[in-house]
Parts: sequence; structure tokens; C-alpha cells
Amino acid sequence: MGLVFGFIARSAIAIFFEITPIDLNGGQHKHVTHPTLILLVGNKNTLPTLHKSINGENRMSVNERFARQTLIAGWEQERLQAATAVIVGIGALGNEVARILALSGIGHLILCDHDTVALSNLSRCVLFREADVGQLKVTVAAQSLKAFGPQLQVQTRPKPLISGIGLAELRSADIVLGCLDSRAARLQLAGRCNLVGAPYIDGGTHPWGGEVRPYLVANGPCYGCSLNSEERSISDVPWSCVEESLSNPVGSTASSSVVIGGWMSLVAIRFLMDLSTPEGSLRIDGSRGTSRIVQQQHNPDCLLHQPIETIKKVANSDQSTVAALLAEIETESVVLSWAPIQQRIECRTCGFQTVRWGIPKAARCPTCETTLRLRTTLELSEAPGQLKLTDLGIAPREILAIRTIKGIEWIELSD
Ligand SMILES: [Zn+2]
Ligand SMILES: [Zn+2]
Repeated sequence: MGLVFGFIARSAIAIFFEITPIDLNGGQHKHVTHPTLILLVGNKNTLPTLHKSINGENRMSVNERFARQTLIAGWEQERLQAATAVIVGIGALGNEVARILALSGIGHLILCDHDTVALSNLSRCVLFREADVGQLKVTVAAQSLKAFGPQLQVQTRPKPLISGIGLAELRSADIVLGCLDSRAARLQLAGRCNLVGAPYIDGGTHPWGGEVRPYLVANGPCYGCSLNSEERSISDVPWSCVEESLSNPVGSTASSSVVIGGWMSLVAIRFLMDLSTPEGSLRIDGSRGTSRIVQQQHNPDCLLHQPIETIKKVANSDQSTVAALLAEIETESVVLSWAPIQQRIECRTCGFQTVRWGIPKAARCPTCETTLRLRTTLELSEAPGQLKLTDLGIAPREILAIRTIKGIEWIELSD
């Protein structure tokens, strides 16, 4: 993780001195508008005319399902139906956020989490049951969510963030919700959202409360801004995750997840409908019965604010081979991966070693059982040409940096 972040920071600095950054979203996040929508706000006897694209009986039942919320002034159901939210982390918080957005009628969710359901998740995760233990969290969640929102389309990414969600996908999303449990993962998400100007909301729980941090303003403060340089440098230490920090698990409850997940969803829904959203982080402490807003400030020392500008689209996707991608770019250029790619495994005890390209994976020596040392690289160009980009951990619709003689350039993979 440190390596990845070092890379992001270094490339960010390199860009900073070469080109003036521009905002990819033109300063504001774009919403799809629906001129056909007619809202009859405030009249309980008349159902609003929604979902004109849906025919006959289906339209009636969809209208009825959302009838109460469409009575709220400013509520625009069709905007929710058209919206795509990316949820990163499908633990207790991710469960709540996904559930509420599905109930409210969001149209598209992309769920990213590489983890599987554990028995200890069941006290806090509304979408999981005991029979799901051992299954991928995203798969189980997608299945359960069908019951909450028949209008909903769910894509699952059972991978870590960097291999799961490409930068172009983050850029296209209407909102990104960080339901993560480590500082490192939060910094990584902040860095990636800032690179493409994606609006995001970060949430975290404490035993009796937690925090909601909205980062919805273009070029505003980010999660990294709230940390001092020491905190940013110890970003590899998980601070509230049972799964990642087995030696020191931190207590958490369903009530904290519901409170924080509920608030994150509320802010997200208002943002998606272009209604005003709170500025600053909300801190809730249920043990003292207090909640307060902590204003966020842009920290000039935060290195996560250099957006990617000129991007060249290439015909290749994450399903293409390394050779096919390299054929599209100049020969002396080097394509860089965001996450380290495994190229070799070595045993420090008996000397066993072999070339094994792929996503880094802990393994034991076949001869002496010692944990193998993984040799990795960030240079995608070094990998064997016949390998697919996805097999090396490259996400769908990723934007990749290329080191050229003219400096860093960017390419965007196709669908
Ligand atoms: Zn920042
Ligand atoms: Zn060995």
C-alpha cells in the first residue's frame, strides 16, 4: 500500500510541475435531467407521474412503491433511478448504505469488496445470513438487495479497490461511498477519487457512533487533508477492522452502522437530487448523546489533489492482453500499474524461486513450507505479452499512467 501511494504521490508531483491541472467534470458534478418528469408535490390524493419509460402495470407499482417519498418537496425519483453509486467496502456500513439506497429506488450499484462473509459479520450486516458464511460479500449482498429494490441493477467486483473499480468508472459514477475500515484504504479511495474529480462520502464507525465525511465539492478538501503528515505516513495500519487486524479487533455494533450508514445515505440521496448537502464532517458520540460538525479545511501539504487531465482513450479493455495494449502505445514508453504486480516468488530459506506473474498472493514454499517472498513490479510493460490485463490486477475502465520521454501521459481503457 505504501508503495502504491508513494507512486501516486510521485506521479502526482511530476504532473503538477508539468501541466496545469483542469477539472475533468468542469467544476461541477453532472446530473442527468429528465424533462418528462412531472412531480405533483404535496397532493396525497394524486400519485406522482413517474417512470414514464416503464409501461402499464409495472409503472403503477413502481409509482406506488415510491409514492410517500415523492411527496417530499424537491424529491426526484427519476434522478435516483438514473443514478449509479459505487460502494467500496461491503461490511456493516456498506450493507446499510446499499440497503437504504436500494429501498429508496437507486437504479445502479457497483459493489466492491474482495472479502467473504464471516460469522462475526452477522451481528451487524443486514444483507447476510448464516448460510452465506464463506461466500463473497458482494455476491451475497447483490442477491439480498433484489428484495429491497426491484428496479435495481447491481454489478459486483470481488476485488480490492484498485483491481475492482477503474478510474474512468469512478469518474462516471454519480456518487462514491467509502464504507472502509482502515486509514490506508480511505487514503487510497481519496487519492483515486481526487484524480478524476469523483464526489465521495466517507463513513466510519466507533463503538457508540462514528463519523460521516462528505467530500462533494470539486477541488475541496479530501480525507487526506484531515490527517497530519505522520498519520498519512502510517497509512498501512488498520484502525478499526476486525478482519484486517485480528490481533487487535475493535468493537462495533449494528446501531452505529445504522446511524452512520443512514446519514451517509441521506447525504448521498440529497446530493444525487441536487439538493443542498451539509459541509463538514459529522461526528456522532452516542455515549454522550452529542453530535457535532467539524469543518474540513484544504491542507496545502496534502498530496492528493493533482487531477489527471489529458487522457487518451485506447481500444483495449481490461480483457485485452499486455501485447495488444503495448501495440497501441509508443515503443519506448512504459505502462505503469497502480498496484504492484507479482513477477517472481522466492524462498529465503531453501533458495527455491520461480517466475509467477499475476496478482500478488501469499504462498508457501513447495519444498520447505516457508512463506515465500514476492517480487513485484509496477511496470506493466515487463509482463509476458500473452497475459490479460485483468489477470495482473488491472480494473475495468482503468486509467493508466505511461512514462514517456515527454513525461507522464494517461490512457483510458475501453469497456
Ligand atoms: Zn486532501
Ligand atoms: Zn523453501
